[in-house]
Amino acid sequence: MMDQLLSYPEAAALVAEYARKRSAGRKPVQVELAFASGRVLAEALRADMDHPPFARSTRDGFACRAAEASRHEFLAIAGSTQAGHAPAGPLPPGAAWEIMTGAPVPDGADAVAMIEHVESRDGQVRLLAPRTLEPGKNIVARGEQAHAGELLLPAGTVLGAAQIALAASCGLALLPVFARPRVAILTTGDELVAVQKVPGPAQIRNSNAPMLAAMVVAAGGDPWVFPTVGDNAAAIGGAIKQAALPAAQTDLLLFSGGVSAGKFDLVEPALAKAGAEFFFTGVRLQPGKPAVFGQIKQNAAAQLSGFGDLLRPSITETERTPLPFLGLPGNPISTAVTFLLFGAPLLAALGGCPHHGPHFLPARLKSEIKGKDGLTRFLPAWCDFDHEKGGWHEVEAIPMHGSGDLAALARSNCFVMVPEERERMEKGSLVYVLPH
Ligand code: AMP
Ligand code: MG
Repeated sequence: MMDQLLSYPEAAALVAEYARKRSAGRKPVQVELAFASGRVLAEALRADMDHPPFARSTRDGFACRAAEASRHEFLAIAGSTQAGHAPAGPLPPGAAWEIMTGAPVPDGADAVAMIEHVESRDGQVRLLAPRTLEPGKNIVARGEQAHAGELLLPAGTVLGAAQIALAASCGLALLPVFARPRVAILTTGDELVAVQKVPGPAQIRNSNAPMLAAMVVAAGGDPWVFPTVGDNAAAIGGAIKQAALPAAQTDLLLFSGGVSAGKFDLVEPALAKAGAEFFFTGVRLQPGKPAVFGQIKQNAAAQLSGFGDLLRPSITETERTPLPFLGLPGNPISTAVTFLLFGAPLLAALGGCPHHGPHFLPARLKSEIKGKDGLTRFLPAWCDFDHEKGGWHEVEAIPMHGSGDLAALARSNCFVMVPEERERMEKGSLVYVLPH
């Protein structure tokens, strides 16, 4: 274990480097389009055909030859085509063809005059002067958006509504996405009782377990919430063994509580006993200083459990990738901040997403906030976009009473960052916020 605390940028770089190395090689699973939102595409999406598959009108109007229409003479209306129907023939010379948005343009036409820009009478139509038409006007050529076989989305793309629509337009009803990383959530503390219980005189409800489960889901993971574990090294060790069993298929161990310097902060010793390698055991952060990051060689944990190899006999010790863990301090705001800073990027990477963040946004500070000597601060804040004030995101810290102030956390929509070298950030200064 190390005593040296890393700065926040050093710790972030270490997590990002680890995340980068771990962002490949997950198993793909197939999901229906309707359930693909937020998932990570496991294989590249290529155009199944030319898009659009035929030259298409983008307007209601008249398909014509641009040069002929631009002479402003009447052209005979030779035919009509609506969306979903093929034109009955090519466009004869000196003629126009009625056409609706989305319909295929007849052969021979090179432009579409908008219905609003023409005058028609007695089966004839002409473009109103002084307008002229250029070839290609109001037509999307076949293959203009994508040619058959062209790369549309690389593997690793996070799917949203637009990407799902694109996949649908290529005829995919199922999409290959990466399996969600499975996160064992181990909340520790003798004082904790389950949500359904009435706390005794020295007890509180375990709010971090559901909070972390929600944060894991938002970060693309699959939460596996363990029953609360007491401040007891053997109990914590038992939970680690269970979560690290190869058959459990855990991708990340997430602890809350028990990582500070107190006599009953026993997560680190339990991890050390399970063969952990620590990358950091503290970060110059406020809140969140005791955060711990490392990995367990899975064979070590499996040996402790005694029957890991029986469950997965085909996999040798050396083939198993180490199991990363994060130990987050238990004060709810500390837990939330450190999960967002370190847990969410790790999970995004473990889920196959190459752009793992954290994704900070610039904003302008509405009122002064103070720094903490030698620590990077993250304060719960409210950020909104104000058109009136020059189009900036404006942010203001929310008054709070310590890192346990869940009500302040719940009233915030982001954390505002104060770098460790800053004594204060004045009103109007440019700051970075991390939305949550
Ligand atoms: P610890 O990180 O274990 O030193 O805990 C710091 C503070 O966070 C203490 O006041 C704990 O009671 C509180 N705390 C720890 N775990 C949780 C939890 N799961 N839910 C809510 N509060 C917690
Ligand atoms: Mg504790």
